[in-house]
Amino acid sequence: MFPRSFVVVLAAVAPFAAALEAQKTVAPKPAAAPARLEAFKREAIADVDARAQFSQQMVDQIFSYGELGFQEFETTRYLADVLKRNGFAVQEGIAGIPTAFIATWGSGKPVIALGSDIDCIPQASQKPGVAWHEPLIEGAPGHGEGHNSGQAVNITAALAVKKIMEREHLPGTLRIWTGTAEELVGSKAYFIRAGLFKDVDVALFTHVGDGLEVSWGPREGTGLVSVQYSFLGETAHAAANPWRGRSALDAVELMDIGWNFRREHLRLSQRSHNVIVDGGDQPNVVPRTASVWYYFRETDYAHIKELWETGDTIAKAAAMMAGVELQATKVLGSAWPQHFNKVVAETTWANIQKVGLPQWSADDQQLAKALQKELKNPLAEGLRTKLRETLQGPVTENNGGGSDDIGDISWNVPTVTLRYPSNIPGLPGHNWANAISMATPIAHKGVTAGAKVQAMTILDLVMRPDLVEQAWTYFRDVQTKDTKYEPLLRPQDQPAIWLNKATMEKYRPEMKKYYYDPSRYKTYLDQLGIKYPTLRAGSSQ
Ligand SMILES: [Zn+2]
Repeated sequence: MFPRSFVVVLAAVAPFAAALEAQKTVAPKPAAAPARLEAFKREAIADVDARAQFSQQMVDQIFSYGELGFQEFETTRYLADVLKRNGFAVQEGIAGIPTAFIATWGSGKPVIALGSDIDCIPQASQKPGVAWHEPLIEGAPGHGEGHNSGQAVNITAALAVKKIMEREHLPGTLRIWTGTAEELVGSKAYFIRAGLFKDVDVALFTHVGDGLEVSWGPREGTGLVSVQYSFLGETAHAAANPWRGRSALDAVELMDIGWNFRREHLRLSQRSHNVIVDGGDQPNVVPRTASVWYYFRETDYAHIKELWETGDTIAKAAAMMAGVELQATKVLGSAWPQHFNKVVAETTWANIQKVGLPQWSADDQQLAKALQKELKNPLAEGLRTKLRETLQGPVTENNGGGSDDIGDISWNVPTVTLRYPSNIPGLPGHNWANAISMATPIAHKGVTAGAKVQAMTILDLVMRPDLVEQAWTYFRDVQTKDTKYEPLLRPQDQPAIWLNKATMEKYRPEMKKYYYDPSRYKTYLDQLGIKYPTLRAGSSQ
């Protein structure tokens, strides 16, 4: 299937065989193990390179599906098929979430869980490789965070390592799992509640970034709880008999006003925001129902709970003022703040330094610089060409920021997030601009670099039980010494699998026309007929 790669792989086996021979005859056991491990790593790197087209197809395919959280039906069907074809047993619909799965291969210890998110962003439809805002379909969702790429990192890495493990009869279990509805922080706390990580030794998560990075300890950012407040009033003719009605929308507006006054007296690290998901039907009918959806973000569990209680109090008070009823609140998502494992991060960092950043072409740099200029970034510096000098450790001052429900996994199992360079620095996030590189050579090269690191780290963990032990020592004696995981989810909360259904139903028929067909086109750019890169006329870049 990959004639070129075959040669590369064979070439990589030769030094390994020599190393094995050396181990038998000369070196004592402890000293020999690294040589064997290093040989396997070299083999895995060559194998990941050989699978570059396979990785590219996955990245482009999922980009073209552009599915919102809890509606990733095409994406999960496609990924599950790829994994089944490659010998994984796939358990679908885990934790009561139809678009979540765990795929397993191998047996015994260590159990390594490889996860990455799969969902996209509302209104982020964008033509890849074009250096300005140009939706493929106006108003449609799109991969404006780059979650179309992480599974390709994990699957490519897993297949490269699986080949070695099979041949060498190495014990170990690889589990590939979906970060479903991450943009809603909607699934991972449910995976924990369902006990799906109970026997996992290490979780290696991947997330798109603009560098090749990993970190340990508490990082900048927040955890959160996502809560919907719904109010029930009574309709009336808004002009003829307004005194007979009670407006649920009044309660929503009063709650928002109350929250925005309280905001002045909250800690600087908090982030809170809302959208009104039901604001009534039409002005001449007093709104009987209205709902507002809040994210309450803070830097630790206790402060998240405190913020949430404040929200509940203001909602009750708003209902009293409006003379309406506050209905049972719904938790739509939750996330613990993230804390990454020191030992696993150091192991990953050593591998990052071996791989380095991809070789960017002049076209890649032109696209990056043109987009940075388009967004009026003061420094249009293009793509990164240098790794960070040191591994990032704990933050001393956390001023808040985004969240990821990988936090919940990280407080149950030693975990790290590997960031790989498939995106362009200096973008706003959750935006069409973040989709531009995501089905181009930038994304493809970033994924290949990430897969090499991931493959090497898996090999480290499979072949060095001492590392897994040390990771757990850090987890038990340092990370969770004083802080114990308590779910933010209440017993009655269930995955919010109805979210985004209507939006996907609206856009999917049109989006289907643009699904990537790798049997006819080498790349998605080819299929769309987009010249790479497409820059504004007269652009000097
Ligand atoms: Zn993300």
